[in-house]
Amino acid sequence: MGGSGRGGAVADLKLKWKQNVKGKMFVDQSCIACDACVLTAPSNFKMDENEGHAYVFKQPETPEEEAQCREAMEGCPVEAIGDFGDKEPS
Ligand code: SF4
Repeated sequence: MGGSGRGGAVADLKLKWKQNVKGKMFVDQSCIACDACVLTAPSNFKMDENEGHAYVFKQPETPEEEAQCREAMEGCPVEAIGDFGDKEPS
């Protein structure tokens, strides 16, 4: 897609919560704990009740989970969910 302006928030790998499991999807620190992703993709997203933010506890493994994660990503009101594809910078 490319070229979305600078107006919106975009998930930032540098701000990724350490609770995220290793893999392509992650939640960053702009999460406002609205619960939407947990409701949309319960197999992959969880809420850290202590710290007050969501995180990816399991990477999507099936087409259904992929679809739910994508939906969660699109539904996140602050774009705190990122997906950097196949290569995770270490
Ligand atoms: S949808 Fe976005 S803001 Fe809401 S809990 Fe999930 S990551 Fe956080």
